Amino acid sequence: MTLVHAEAVKNTKNVAEQICNQMKTMQKKVHTQYPEADIIAQAAQILQQGGLVAFPTETVYGLGANGLDEAACKRIYEAKGRPSDNPLILHISHIDELRPIVRDIPQAAQKLIDAFWPGPLTMIFQKADCVPDTVTGGLDTVAVRFPSHSVAMALIRKAGLPIAAPSANTSGKPSPTRAEHVALDLDGKIDMILDGGATTWGLESTIVDVSVTPPMILRPGAITKEMMAQVVGDVDIDAALLQKPTTDFRPKAPGMKYTHYAPKADVFLVQGNDVVRCINDLAKKQKAQGKKVGVLATDQTKAKYHADVVLSVGSREKLEEIGANLFHVLRQFDVCQTDVVYAEVFPLTGEGLAIMNRLQKSAGYRMIEAD
Ligand code: AMP
Ligand code: MG
Repeated sequence: MTLVHAEAVKNTKNVAEQICNQMKTMQKKVHTQYPEADIIAQAAQILQQGGLVAFPTETVYGLGANGLDEAACKRIYEAKGRPSDNPLILHISHIDELRPIVRDIPQAAQKLIDAFWPGPLTMIFQKADCVPDTVTGGLDTVAVRFPSHSVAMALIRKAGLPIAAPSANTSGKPSPTRAEHVALDLDGKIDMILDGGATTWGLESTIVDVSVTPPMILRPGAITKEMMAQVVGDVDIDAALLQKPTTDFRPKAPGMKYTHYAPKADVFLVQGNDVVRCINDLAKKQKAQGKKVGVLATDQTKAKYHADVVLSVGSREKLEEIGANLFHVLRQFDVCQTDVVYAEVFPLTGEGLAIMNRLQKSAGYRMIEAD
């Protein structure tokens, strides 16, 4: 290619990029516990005017819009590239904001509200007429959450609206746990990012359907089955949670049928007796074929692996730390341009269930037995 030609190609590319990225995304640092009133007021105004604002919650960053405005909610789907039948969660900042958006509050729901709100628990209710179809993906139920993060609470309160907010990532990618993850996916596509630092829990909220008896968990998260059972007695768990979706699979949380949390590399989970030896053997074979190999390890095992990129998600003794780090580590494998990633597995109980649910999806349910 001649120099002139190369320059012309570069210019065309720049113009094309400018057309795709027309919007200027404002990014503002905000105090995590005591958010600055002027910044919150500016963000709230954007939401009231139908714009999109990404903000931190105690789980992951959310991409917020006015949840009663069809056009604003449609912009969420466009910015994320999200399938339109995957409904959004409405976020509130006071318990009094629940009544107007749901048909009723069942007894079990009230007990769960008293025990876990504000916090990382989303509940599915029969929806009120004011909730647009764009939010619910055409379902007659609506998902509602009352987050405990000071920035999220201040923003929703100031906007004075229920805020529809899915995770602030491109559809299919790991959810964002830092403002830089949001910027990488959505810069130029949304109006504002509030940067409140790394989120504390790091996996999306537990989703429980309280429109059925007993309540049924549709997505595992920080509020575990065991914790809810102590409050309401019986709690079911959707049998489809840890299974590969089949063609006739009709998930109750529509988001469950889509690929999720996936880095660009092929991810495989490895379980069994000698996981370290098995992963090292596999890594050797892949490297011989010229592949760049990553290992998702733990503090207890990271020194034992021989691979191009070995990243620890934290200590096996602290599952909450692993939950907080998981999505960042999955994104780091992209930054390091690995071709294949082998990951250790975690227990399917308590907080481990939420971690395994996300890991299985990122691996497309591929499991290798080490024996
Ligand atoms: P995210 O977009 O990552 O915040 O995920 C929101 C999740 O909530 C998705 O898995 C949705 O399918 C689920 N969800 C939202 N509304 C409903 C609903 N009415 N019934 C069942 N699941 C829902
Ligand atoms: Mg999501």
